[in-house]
Amino acid sequence: MLTVKEPRRRNRWAVVTCILAGLAVSCALPASASTVADPDPIFTQARINFQFQLNHRDTGAPNIFFHVSSGTPASVVNMMEQEVIITDQFWSFVRPINHPVEVYLADDSRIADLIAAYEPTLTPQGDAGGWLQDIANRIKKTDGGLFGGGSPAYDRNNHANFMLHVGTPSPDGSGFWTQTPSHEYTHTIQRYLLGSDFGPLYTWEVEGQADYIGANFAGRNSNTAFQSYWAQMLTSIPAPKNGGVWTSIAVESWFKGAANTQARNLGGEVSQINYILGAIAQKYLVAKYKLTGVEHYYADLAGAINACGDGDLATHPQCDGLRHQIFTKNFHMTLESFYKAAANLAASEIKWALKTSLTLSPDLRSYQLTPWSNLHLTVNPDPTVDVPVYAPSYTALNALSQQNPNGSASESPYPPNTPAPNRTCPNNEGGHATLYGGAMTCTNGIWVLDPGQSIGTPSTP
Ligand SMILES: [Zn+2]
Repeated sequence: MLTVKEPRRRNRWAVVTCILAGLAVSCALPASASTVADPDPIFTQARINFQFQLNHRDTGAPNIFFHVSSGTPASVVNMMEQEVIITDQFWSFVRPINHPVEVYLADDSRIADLIAAYEPTLTPQGDAGGWLQDIANRIKKTDGGLFGGGSPAYDRNNHANFMLHVGTPSPDGSGFWTQTPSHEYTHTIQRYLLGSDFGPLYTWEVEGQADYIGANFAGRNSNTAFQSYWAQMLTSIPAPKNGGVWTSIAVESWFKGAANTQARNLGGEVSQINYILGAIAQKYLVAKYKLTGVEHYYADLAGAINACGDGDLATHPQCDGLRHQIFTKNFHMTLESFYKAAANLAASEIKWALKTSLTLSPDLRSYQLTPWSNLHLTVNPDPTVDVPVYAPSYTALNALSQQNPNGSASESPYPPNTPAPNRTCPNNEGGHATLYGGAMTCTNGIWVLDPGQSIGTPSTP
């Protein structure tokens, strides 16, 4: 639900994108587009690692159900659908591609229809805070279209879901539009790994990862397009609280302050600083540990769900130690030394961005085709397919951490897409499965260890 504040940000950018739309003809394809160098080797390496994962995506047809409000322009629908499908394929290294995702989309004028179709599918948790109505109210107050989305808890069928709303006309060259489907989709991956519980995550880990992935998708067909978008994103950062510029000392101090988390407030403001400094931090980790290493870390954080509760450190003091422990285990450095490294990177890249945004066109079509224009991906929603839903619930993760023999909550949970004790086993009553040598039977919809059985340890890490 942290995404509900994003439209505020789109709102700000709507001003810019309207200007862009007016200039579209003149800035679409300049005779000779400028180029700039990457700001640092981390930028370059992270980009290589993203492209590697994109090139190795599962090109199968995902199980995405698009619920499009009637009358939404076909061009908008096509753009959104293509971007969602390729993101689903990209993330298949974490979340199996055959798992269903429900996507609701509409242009702004049809937001009431979208809400009427979408809201009844949500659980009280997914619908909490009145976030859908909040979006509708903001659309009413915005000229020129508001673009955004939201990715709440699993729906009543235990399906991942999110919504996207698009202002018209859509400024095709703006990365802020292209990045939103992959941004929202990334939240479903976080939910998948963390049983929909974001308590262990820092807000910059939630939103920074989504923005980092979104930026890469927005400029996926040209490094210059990505540079341009990255520069636009970094220069949109609000000033530090005490004014001045984002020096490495200011950034480091911001990260330290952000580590003292409080209970997540569904209606609370999420500062844009989380999105931007978080995206830079994410890039640092992707460069050094690849996307697989970063996802392993997020999966391990599920082991801190019990200790972190609602993320309020004052009432959950053990959360802080576990976060540190899990971070160090995965990245072989302390969070404090990471803040320092990310702060140096952020300060120098923000400087680079200020210069670069004067050189590169903000219209990404100067450097690449609109990303979805050459995709012809098909979706294969099959409501009759027997798809296992192993969304790791809080209860299941709780049970797993209890079973952990050495009591270390930083142990990773069992692989997300396999039968495991306390996970659900829909439509498989009486079925048998084994995990690491332990036999289980599907009993009352839940995998239960057979008498005398225990779960061993995996032979490979
Ligand atoms: Zn978000």
